[in-house]
Amino acid sequence: MVVKAALAVYWSRLGSLNALAMTREAKLWKSWLHGPLCSADSLGRIVAGMEADSLRQGIHHVYERLKRNKALPDLHGLAVAVLDGHETSASYRRCCTGCLKRTTHSGQRQFYHRNVTLMLLCAAPPDRPAVRLLLDLEPQQPGEAELAPALRLLERVLAAYPRAFDLLLADAYYAVAPFLNFLLQHGKQAIVVLKDERRDAYEDAAGLWAQQPAQPGRYASRSCRWWDIPDLLSWPDVQGPIRVVRSEESWIVKAQLTKELTPQTTNWVWLTTLSIAQARTEQVVHLAHLRWDIENHGFNELVNGWHADHVYCHQSGAIECFLLLAFLAYNLFHAFFALNLKPALRRGRTMEFWVRLIAADLHAVPRFAFPHAPP
Ligand SMILES: [Zn+2]
Repeated sequence: MVVKAALAVYWSRLGSLNALAMTREAKLWKSWLHGPLCSADSLGRIVAGMEADSLRQGIHHVYERLKRNKALPDLHGLAVAVLDGHETSASYRRCCTGCLKRTTHSGQRQFYHRNVTLMLLCAAPPDRPAVRLLLDLEPQQPGEAELAPALRLLERVLAAYPRAFDLLLADAYYAVAPFLNFLLQHGKQAIVVLKDERRDAYEDAAGLWAQQPAQPGRYASRSCRWWDIPDLLSWPDVQGPIRVVRSEESWIVKAQLTKELTPQTTNWVWLTTLSIAQARTEQVVHLAHLRWDIENHGFNELVNGWHADHVYCHQSGAIECFLLLAFLAYNLFHAFFALNLKPALRRGRTMEFWVRLIAADLHAVPRFAFPHAPP
């Protein structure tokens, strides 16, 4: 019942437990919870005492159902996931045993929480929007770097979802041998951003693409020049051949006011363990760009749309459980939107419309519950 109430807090985007308390009279609770809504305090307390693993099982159950219904098709021929670190809350005053600490430019001590999250990306089934699932998160503990929680997270996710993905996307932080080797040992591949600080592999590749003619390509509306350098041996710590793909992308920007056209160019360099037989240059470029999905469709939506960074109860276990509940709410909402709604019903109605519909139901108070209702 508490899980259902918390899911409703996220679905209706209430943003706080006190806002939830104001809806106690709503008719919806009776049919949704089959009983009255508990107080905001008890809800916070009960979630804080929850087993994070039982919430993870709930997320797994949703994944399994969707997988069985063939609602999670591969992307460009591969099952793809993306991993990224994310800060969820920062405060100068409140702290708990799980808080990470830092000193700001002004010399103030700040407390914050950070976790590593894994999101599954899928192609769109025919006539339906694509579903993305937030599978799991692992909190970063005080004193450790982001790689440690990332490996703990992968260890758990690979045990629970051994076949959910073949390829993992990550940012430049993860262009390190322990991360790539961990994936290779588990039969998984990676595409990570390569920055020129990783001089060895970058410089070797740069030397080669200076001599190699570029292949022309397209990414969305951009025209590209691609260089693809396989079998680089410049990283002996990595237990397999690595490949570097560079994409120089050009497009024209039209200024809204002056209508002036300005050409833009950007350069991307990625390191991958995928062989050319596993993914052509074009596939690598398209897959690599999906790395932003976790920010655009995951974190940004959770924070701005779902108030998922709101600290309902400042305690590391509670923060983890509330986030897992937000993941569950996010997955169920998007799965419902994409798969259960008939295309005709979905057409022309934005996600915002459905959110308001849920919120309206929550705020519909039975007429006679008003204390000063006319006789
Ligand atoms: Zn804390």
